[in-house]
Amino acid sequence: MLSTMQDAPLSISQLLRHGSSVHGEQEVITWTGEESKRVSYAEVGRRCAKLAHALRGLGVTGDQRVGTFMWNNSEHLEAYLAIPSMGAVLHTLNIRLFPEQLVHVVNHAEDHVIIVDPTLIPLLGPRLPEFTTVKHIIVTGSDTSALQAPAGITVHSYEQLIAGESDVFEWPELDERTAAAMCYTSGTTGDPKGVVYSHRSIWLHSMQVCMTDGMALSQGDIALAIVPQFHAMSWGLPYAAFMIGASLLMPDRFLQPAPIADMIEAIKPTFAAAVPTIWQGLLLHLEDHKADISSLRSVVVGGSAVPPSVMHAFEERYGIPVLHAWGMTETSPLGSVAQCPAGVTGDEAWAYRYTQGRFPAGVEARLKDDDGNLVPHDGESVGELQVRGPWIAGGYYGVDSADKFDDGWLLTGDVGHITKDGFLTLTDRSKDIIKSGGEWISSVDLENSVMGHPDVLEAAVIGIPDEKWDERPLVAVVLRDGSSTTVQELQDFLAGKVAKWQLPENWARIQEVPKTSVGKFDKKRLRGQYQDGDLTVDRL
Ligand code: AMP
Repeated sequence: MLSTMQDAPLSISQLLRHGSSVHGEQEVITWTGEESKRVSYAEVGRRCAKLAHALRGLGVTGDQRVGTFMWNNSEHLEAYLAIPSMGAVLHTLNIRLFPEQLVHVVNHAEDHVIIVDPTLIPLLGPRLPEFTTVKHIIVTGSDTSALQAPAGITVHSYEQLIAGESDVFEWPELDERTAAAMCYTSGTTGDPKGVVYSHRSIWLHSMQVCMTDGMALSQGDIALAIVPQFHAMSWGLPYAAFMIGASLLMPDRFLQPAPIADMIEAIKPTFAAAVPTIWQGLLLHLEDHKADISSLRSVVVGGSAVPPSVMHAFEERYGIPVLHAWGMTETSPLGSVAQCPAGVTGDEAWAYRYTQGRFPAGVEARLKDDDGNLVPHDGESVGELQVRGPWIAGGYYGVDSADKFDDGWLLTGDVGHITKDGFLTLTDRSKDIIKSGGEWISSVDLENSVMGHPDVLEAAVIGIPDEKWDERPLVAVVLRDGSSTTVQELQDFLAGKVAKWQLPENWARIQEVPKTSVGKFDKKRLRGQYQDGDLTVDRL
């Protein structure tokens, strides 16, 4: 028997209509350096219609891809909403990809148009001759003089292009399973792979972002979206904000600690989301520069494990709770969120909050060991995490990806354990685990413990070959300027915090941990530096 309910498709155009009417007074606020530019959601709705007409005028039909090479700003929000709503596919391009990877993803997705911010022209411009399908470049603002395009590509200014267009667009009714947006993974091995989100997956994911036990984004919040729109859809915040009526504060290119502190003080966001390195930088900055960040009621951190020391610093110095979350480009990205169970307090609450979080109903999880056996969810047994659900990727665009799935479950490459009540603790990426004398050492645990030392700014741990134990941990550590702490003192600091046999004897002092295109520790490069003899290792 079929239901008697209406079969209304879940679509981005519905989010656009809802946000720009019911929540028309909310705003997207883009930081411009010392000031900000405000556009109401009602105006965003009108400008989306104009953009859709303009893109049709450039020949964008069907499910053609429109790329964006942009910071987080109001025009990028318009692209997020208008492109999928007109039936085309938004393709967010990671501005930090290596040039050859950028060329690969543009050509692989067959982008027809790319919208670019003027400040990013120096990165995009030199690559234009290598793009095989791009016909138009739209430069945000009014000035296109910085871009000389090769034959076959026409350059337009965003504002001139949309100026004469109607602010009403007849958004087509679309099958909710059709492609809305795509984002290529920022994998450090091989070519990036394309994840294609549907209207339906984005809708359901947005609801989870807003749920009280999700990220709890709420009507009236001002959400500072530091996590880039070019990486994992800014954790779904642009769509969730339009769904729930939260304003957005977009940092554009001002991602250093000083402007972040300035914009928080000036605009008073209530909610913010970014990877741990951003928050570590802000904490350090605030030690010497006073700024009022008390408007924040919640700071969501994910993308890599947040050190407990960072969570405590925010809570104890500034009274701001840090909410730890786990996800991947392939999981839209929200996979789990560490909301503490009701009634739990004190140290027990902290123990829950350190974890990568609890799976919501839309994300089913299981663990498998190296032999492919299911691992019990007992909070101790470790295995590779596999997930499935309505906003989890079931394949990659245009490539054979069978080896990334097990009977329909996505292989995450993350390793950890899960409690009976569904809390995930990641101990490592499968390729980063250190296998010492037949036992596993979690590089993440060691990093978190070392980063608990007050003189340590960053610490990354990799396994290095060892004749006796196969592998032993090497800690690459960045100390505060002027610190005289020795590696022996750091090792003594770890005693009692980690098992004795895990105490690392190999240490290297470095200036900075190499980072990936999205600001995560790049352990592949660190291993390369070790192999090339570029690290000076102290052996205790
Ligand atoms: P990406 O697709 O670039 O967002 O990367 C996804 C990967 O980031 C995951 O598979 C994890 O390895 C890592 N990651 C994301 N969130 C966390 C977290 N909270 N703790 C540890 N690792 C994380």
